[in-house]
Amino acid sequence: MQKEDIVLYSLEDLKEYFVSIGEKAFRAKQVYEWLHVKLADSFDEMTNISDQLKDKLNERFLIERLTVARVFTSRIDGTQKYLLRLRDGNVVESVLMKYHHGNSVCISTQVGCRMGCRFCASTLDGLVRNLTASEMLKEVYTIQKSTNERVSNIVLMGSGEPMDNFDNVILFLNKITDENGLHISQRNITISTCGLVDNMKRFADLGFQVTLALSLHASDDETRKELMPIAKRYTIEQELEACRYYFEKTKRRITFEYSLVAGVNDNIAEAKKLAERIKGMNCHVNLIPVNPIKERNYRKSSSASIAEFKKYLEKTGINVTIRREMGSDIQGACGQLRKSFIEGET
Ligand code: SAH
Repeated sequence: MQKEDIVLYSLEDLKEYFVSIGEKAFRAKQVYEWLHVKLADSFDEMTNISDQLKDKLNERFLIERLTVARVFTSRIDGTQKYLLRLRDGNVVESVLMKYHHGNSVCISTQVGCRMGCRFCASTLDGLVRNLTASEMLKEVYTIQKSTNERVSNIVLMGSGEPMDNFDNVILFLNKITDENGLHISQRNITISTCGLVDNMKRFADLGFQVTLALSLHASDDETRKELMPIAKRYTIEQELEACRYYFEKTKRRITFEYSLVAGVNDNIAEAKKLAERIKGMNCHVNLIPVNPIKERNYRKSSSASIAEFKKYLEKTGINVTIRREMGSDIQGACGQLRKSFIEGET
């Protein structure tokens, strides 16, 4: 019999299970706490559970477990990249960034990605598979456990497209924000999408108080199509309309991510068009100097063009930040590290 993944069980389901095997319901709370607060990786760690019950649990359930394959620590800012190995041998990247306001973890949502954004390393070999909700939870748990410091913020900005793994991502959100678990505030979570409009709207209807970040990267459809295949499916207008809908439903300010690629999308005409298109929206623009990958010949915009682009947007009253390049000495670009690690292994 295939063992069931106990990390996915709700507290209610666990209660039901314990009662069905003649145990007291409060055991469910104890086990749930071991799994989601004390972050146990095995039933043996659960010291207030009898050996007999541990055997029973071991027989029926498994606890999803990720092993740390490598950790790279940036000498510049202390950012840590974790290469985590899944049970089937695949590896994913998760990143820990330490800020004044707390520890933030950037998780992957898929092994690889099928969205095909031209500048992105995660998509070069396509999609391998979706991550389960447990695997996403364990990315956070493993890092919190290994640092022994509380994770307070989560960004779904690692490898993969969260809106292309919708159900598992929703289950993950429900669990990570659960008051009986790590109880991370919804407001401290950001989901980044390349713009799967239909699922963005479905997500809006669920009413989570999380921040939605749209990877826009261009202000006209032609340029966007050059950078992102998703632009062939949805126009920028449709993307913005989905963002407005998200705001209407959640009242959460939208983030637009804009990776600046030299000579492609970093001129003032693009900034002007961008400003016109998002005028009046409750939003924030995050400029990301593109992190060149060796497989493509995209170049980073100069600091002068980045500063000018920013200044132009600010002049029109738009709130803009330039993303700090965290861990630039440890292959910061999404999916780059995993790829070079796998290539080194084979
Ligand atoms: N699939 C999601 C999450 C991906 S990564 C999405 O598309 O939003 C998070 C952000 O980093 C996205 O805006 C993505 O376009 C951007 N990104 C990926 N690779 C990059 C690179 N090499 N340089 C700059 N930005 C990059």
